[in-house]
Amino acid sequence: MTPTIAKTVFVLLAVGWYLIRVPFARKSRRTSVARNARGARETLLLSISFSGLGLVPFVYVATGFPKFAAYSFNPFQASVGVVVALAALAMFRLTHKALGRNWSVTLEVRENHKLVTEGVYRRVRHPMYTAFWLWAIAQALLLPNLVAGLSGLIGFGTLYLFRVAEEERLMIETFGEPYRAYMTRTGRLIPRFL
Ligand code: SAH
Repeated sequence: MTPTIAKTVFVLLAVGWYLIRVPFARKSRRTSVARNARGARETLLLSISFSGLGLVPFVYVATGFPKFAAYSFNPFQASVGVVVALAALAMFRLTHKALGRNWSVTLEVRENHKLVTEGVYRRVRHPMYTAFWLWAIAQALLLPNLVAGLSGLIGFGTLYLFRVAEEERLMIETFGEPYRAYMTRTGRLIPRFL
């Protein structure tokens, strides 16, 4: 394991993520939206998350910026990062498959929106956010730079903290009791615990 391999794995994580998402993003453009809860706040949160998971680490991979935040590379840490990156990709794929046309990049309810409670959604309410957390953890382990490594946790963490309760409110308004019951038997990110 070398710094170059670790950086390459991070780039491949992003490419894999993109390839998994593209067909679902196409499909979702063809599905009409019944209710959109996107406002200036959501757009700001999405930009913060995108900067932390994408912009900042990619500037680092391309240029080494910001140099002052660099620390010495640890091959074991990076190897764990590879495993976490693979787990993130696997989880991301499973969640997109399970959500299908009910997926949106933002808070939306689609025409004929179905509440998904099976597959990876059986015990966890937000497994796609679990996948994003795994990306952010992989980023922190793979990139030996405090700014580029930690920006994903901070950027996605901000989106997550401000969005998740609002998303659950939207789901309760849309599905009512079945979603409340679903909440009692699931965890947000990890079965039961979290
Ligand atoms: N928070 C979920 C989904 C992220 S995609 C996860 O992390 O896996 C965001 C969209 O998914 C929201 O607009 C919402 O309408 C929809 N959504 C969230 N939970 C859902 C569920 N259990 N079934 C169907 N749609 C859901």
